[in-house]
Amino acid sequence: MKKIFLFTLLAAAARGQMPPGDDQKLAHDIYKEIIEINSAVTTGTTTPVAQVMAARFRAAGFPESDIFLGGPIPGKWNLVVRYHGTGVRKPILLLAHTDVVEAKREDWSPEFDPFKFTEKDGFYYGRGTADDKAQAAIWAATLIRYKREGYKPDRDLIVALTADEEGGGYNGVRWLIENHKDLIASDFALNEGGGAEMVNGKKISLNVQVAEKYVMNVRLEVRNKGGHSSVPLPDNAIYRLAEALARLSHFEFPLKSNGGHAGLFRATGED
Ligand SMILES: [Zn+2]
Repeated sequence: MKKIFLFTLLAAAARGQMPPGDDQKLAHDIYKEIIEINSAVTTGTTTPVAQVMAARFRAAGFPESDIFLGGPIPGKWNLVVRYHGTGVRKPILLLAHTDVVEAKREDWSPEFDPFKFTEKDGFYYGRGTADDKAQAAIWAATLIRYKREGYKPDRDLIVALTADEEGGGYNGVRWLIENHKDLIASDFALNEGGGAEMVNGKKISLNVQVAEKYVMNVRLEVRNKGGHSSVPLPDNAIYRLAEALARLSHFEFPLKSNGGHAGLFRATGED
């Protein structure tokens, strides 16, 4: 059933079905509003993002009981909003994080300010336009549209706009799981990832990412008989470790494929 839901979304996207103009404008307005709030990990805060979004849900008629605002510290608030369905099936969780990577004005091109939403030649510029405030704006605008249209899905839809991702999910998803699991308990979640591809203005694909690579921390320790630095030896622990790191830098994991890759390449190779 999960696949059917995703394919329905993708099929709608592929057919180019766009929401009505007012809803597109709403998504655009929300997008602009939250891009212009500095929510960078150390120089900003996600709390005003959560607050302005909560205000929009309230204005759209969502009751206070379906809106949760909070976080572990004052600058790291999350927003969780529930849209009620008939409850035949378990909820779907729609995730987007509202923190962004640091951005210094002086590092950007003169015509762009990282915290000023700019539209130029059909592209949007500003920190978080791709990661991940577009998704946050789309989830929010979609829920508000459903509310206005009176759409009744067969399950609750939960939007969680979380405070952390760029440096780990400590104040975001992890905090919600540890402190408010009931708010986000769901059948499955849709999160960022996958992306889309466009070549020379032609839309090539809208990808579904089903897994995520993860970091693996390794501690290397080298032992050696040592000696006095006044009589340096060519065989010493520092050089051996350096050689090991150099060898590691040349290592490449062997290519492995599975059904998912094969399907992706088949589908994207058709055009
Ligand atoms: Zn992200």
